Amino acid sequence: MALRLAYCGLGLSDVDAWSRFGIGALGMMADDRGDLRRLRIDDRAWRFALHPGSEDDIRYAGFECEDLAELASRRDTLVAAGIICTDLEEAERAERQIEAGFRLCDPDGLRIELVVGHEAAAAQFHSDLTQGFCTGDQGLGHIVLTIVDLDRGIQFYEKLGFALSDFITVPMGPASLRIAFMHCNARHHSLAIAALPGGKRLNHIMVEVEQVDEVLLGHRRCVEQGYTTGGIGRHPNDQMLSFYVQTPAGFDVEYGWGGREIHGEWDVAEYDHISIWGHERAA
Ligand code: FE
Repeated sequence: MALRLAYCGLGLSDVDAWSRFGIGALGMMADDRGDLRRLRIDDRAWRFALHPGSEDDIRYAGFECEDLAELASRRDTLVAAGIICTDLEEAERAERQIEAGFRLCDPDGLRIELVVGHEAAAAQFHSDLTQGFCTGDQGLGHIVLTIVDLDRGIQFYEKLGFALSDFITVPMGPASLRIAFMHCNARHHSLAIAALPGGKRLNHIMVEVEQVDEVLLGHRRCVEQGYTTGGIGRHPNDQMLSFYVQTPAGFDVEYGWGGREIHGEWDVAEYDHISIWGHERAA
């Protein structure tokens, strides 16, 4: 039984700017539903919903199960652990374009949805900027969230169906920053949590392109279009070659290639650095 990150809802003070960034810099594709602006990166109806809002942060994340039986069994497990689960109403299911699902809150109040039957798009994915993103069984990518209490966060996401991948601990001022990386399918991590600075729940969203050249081309586009863009680098744990770019909402997107996969036996490792090389911060 695996979960997949199916979609993210973002509350944005400038929907137009974020849409322009997603399409023109990252190679995403527009697929609006009524008044709701949405972006695609593959054959799914949508992956990112751009809700007008003042928070400039994540509003909800949807994780997809295989079928209704798995959805029901996960719900039973969560309810037995004392977590309140509420079925999504018909209007919510229609907006999300899913068959069924329920919502719950993570320990810091972020709305998480477990769903099945996320619809495919009517038209093929097309972008002039990319040949495609790695999604499928690994979901849309990963999200990195700020959490107040790391151990409480790990416990919650383990109940949801995640397992630890590894930790990175680095000095931060007089203290240290400890990041927990967690997987729910073969992708090295679909989620990472830490007590990160920045004041937002969402630190970054990672999307993975299929061609290594497209990391370099994406980097060039982000720089040319004037976005605050860090250097290309490689992480020690998921071995992703990537760069970070600040989105118009203040949180980052990581644009990567070549992420490691987890299959079978896995030892939870400890790392003391975030990058093997590169990832220089934007000036
Ligand atoms: Fe990342």
